[in-house]
Amino acid sequence: MNTTVRERSADVLVVGAGLAGLVAACEAADAGAQVLVLDQEGEQNLGGQAFWSLGGLFLVNSSEQRRLGIRDSLELAREDWHRAANFDRPEDEWGKRWAEAYLEWAAGRKREWLAQQGVSWFPVVGWAERGLNSVPRFHLTMGSGPGILAPFIRRIQVHQRARRVTFAFRRRVSQLLIEGGAVIGVSGEVLEESTVQRGERSSRVVVGDFEARASSTILAGGGIGGNLELVRRAWPTERLGPVPEDMIVGVPHHVDGLLGQVAAQSGARSINPDRMWHYTEGIRNYAPIWPMHGIRVLPGPSSLWLAPGGERLPAPHYPGVDTLGTLQYLGQHQYPYSWFVLNRAIIRKEFALSGSEQNPDLTGGSLLNTILTRLGNRVQAPVQAFMDKGADFVVSDDLGKLLDGMERLNTEAGVPLDRAAVEQAVRGRDQALLTGRPDAQLALIDKARRFTSEKILRVTPPAPLLSPKNGPLIAVKLNILTRKSLGGLQTNLNGQVLRPDGEVFAGLYAAGEIAGFGGGGYHGYRALEGTFLGGCLFSGLRAGQAAAGKEVKL
Ligand SMILES: Cc1cc2nc3c(=O)[nH]c(=O)nc-3n(C[C@H](O)[C@H](O)[C@H](O)COP(=O)(O)OP(=O)(O)OC[C@H]3O[C@@H](n4cnc5c(N)ncnc54)[C@H](O)[C@@H]3O)c2cc1C
Repeated sequence: MNTTVRERSADVLVVGAGLAGLVAACEAADAGAQVLVLDQEGEQNLGGQAFWSLGGLFLVNSSEQRRLGIRDSLELAREDWHRAANFDRPEDEWGKRWAEAYLEWAAGRKREWLAQQGVSWFPVVGWAERGLNSVPRFHLTMGSGPGILAPFIRRIQVHQRARRVTFAFRRRVSQLLIEGGAVIGVSGEVLEESTVQRGERSSRVVVGDFEARASSTILAGGGIGGNLELVRRAWPTERLGPVPEDMIVGVPHHVDGLLGQVAAQSGARSINPDRMWHYTEGIRNYAPIWPMHGIRVLPGPSSLWLAPGGERLPAPHYPGVDTLGTLQYLGQHQYPYSWFVLNRAIIRKEFALSGSEQNPDLTGGSLLNTILTRLGNRVQAPVQAFMDKGADFVVSDDLGKLLDGMERLNTEAGVPLDRAAVEQAVRGRDQALLTGRPDAQLALIDKARRFTSEKILRVTPPAPLLSPKNGPLIAVKLNILTRKSLGGLQTNLNGQVLRPDGEVFAGLYAAGEIAGFGGGGYHGYRALEGTFLGGCLFSGLRAGQAAAGKEVKL
């Protein structure tokens, strides 16, 4: 039997209890607003995607970088950002302004603001997207994703106790309420209670309707990466080639993109749907939490990267250099997947698995434990588990047997393996190393090892792949993994949603991934990484303050 729930009235409604929504709710409540947070999932899912994240943050010229001798600056970061973003559309106007404001924040107050709230970072700064970032800037948060969420959950609990913030879970927003051209609230369906574990797909059985009203509504519903139908529809075939038939999914099922569609149908301007950030290095999770759950490998530069048939990918398609560039290369050649060939010595140091649950040392928050785990001689336990149980892994001391395993996986996918091509690639790389013959990938490894941080923790000293003391050999079948939306609802610097004519859509705000992390796409086409969580923090701050009627101050 359907019953309509009328939620308690509030000054500010926040739709989505992920990182962006929580930050916005904290800021609005700090400014004195009564806040109601609605989410389609249950309370067990508080924090959304950020909980699962690695917690990598983009900071510019931080004390961690300076301590390691990394010379970074706002100017260098700006240059890198614009080269990666390649803003080329008139509608990028607000995205560009968001990028500039964010860069200044990332090089200015961001670190101090987070540190004041108890956030700290692993002292060794990582280097994501080596082809786009001139220097390492990927700061791993102690506690990983949950470590980023913690201060906001703490703050919101204080507000909850003071009754300034209320949550209503299992509320799926499917309509904006509009009066006189302004948004005055939202309505939707009450979903049945769910006891599934965090991240698992929850029931969509509707048990009632609800309506909630407020003078400001902030949409913080995340991106589209969990909805393969929307990903396929938005796939930019002219840039990335035909839509891949098989993709695995790097985000929970609730990242369904439907809230963005609701907003667009109600008159909000949604832009850049074709800009997405998916990965080429996805591995099928042997213990999936959400449907088609895949894990992304953040690779160091030393693995040999091969096409499905076994030929080596050409320069500059080396691990960790330029995710989207390689996705484009694979797409244009209609390669459904690719291979890494490496050995134990490389995997030990160079395979980082993205996800809080894949990094128990970092997520546990102990600096000493994290250092010991990462400096030790053993393969990290989560990586070893994939070597033992992962469907995409072949491990063998013998090259012939490795090729047998690769051939078996290729046969399942209906792709012939050119065994001679793999062997030639492996032996050719080893030969180049032993004879000192120029090799672009070996030059890249050399460049990376000039940074102390990379040398100590991330990049293996160059050594032959076939050297028995570095064995066994490992082949990893890499799938295309969906993750982030770079486009979204266009917003001004106060997080106010705009209409197609550029006018403010009164009463409506957006933050986080649904807003392309600011302006409908502050990354343009490509990200420097660590800029997603940061974009949620920054846009959540701005939208929360503005929606509560406060002058935006950071
Ligand atoms: C495994 C993993 C690793 C990552 N690692 C990093 C990293 O190291 N660095 C980085 O910068 N980024 C990383 N990211 C990306 C980053 O975590 C996300 O981009 C970010 O957390 C998105 O936050 P959000 O608040 O915008 O959306 P979400 O976290 O998706 O939250 C949206 C919320 O809105 C709710 N919702 C959606 N639609 C509705 C509706 N119609 N009605 C009611 N509620 C609705 C959802 O249930 C959800 O709770 C990672 C992501 C993943 C999954």
